[in-house]
Amino acid sequence: MSNEVDAKTARERAKAIAEQRRAERRNRKRRCVVCGVEESDKTPLTAHPEGIGPACKDEVTCQARRAASGR
Ligand SMILES: [Zn+2]
Repeated sequence: MSNEVDAKTARERAKAIAEQRRAERRNRKRRCVVCGVEESDKTPLTAHPEGIGPACKDEVTCQARRAASGR
């Protein structure tokens, strides 16, 4: 019987941890103020030189993405 309880507790705990990680990731997620891409390993953000917020570190890719989005 106790095994069942333990399994349930472990499942609940894993669920809680997954939920917490999701929330953390949501809070951490920033978007480039220029092209609107989400921050990720592929698109690292840095402070925009004009201080308007986070912007892509790779300016060339950022401008290309902005042009592609048509805004
Ligand atoms: Zn950008």
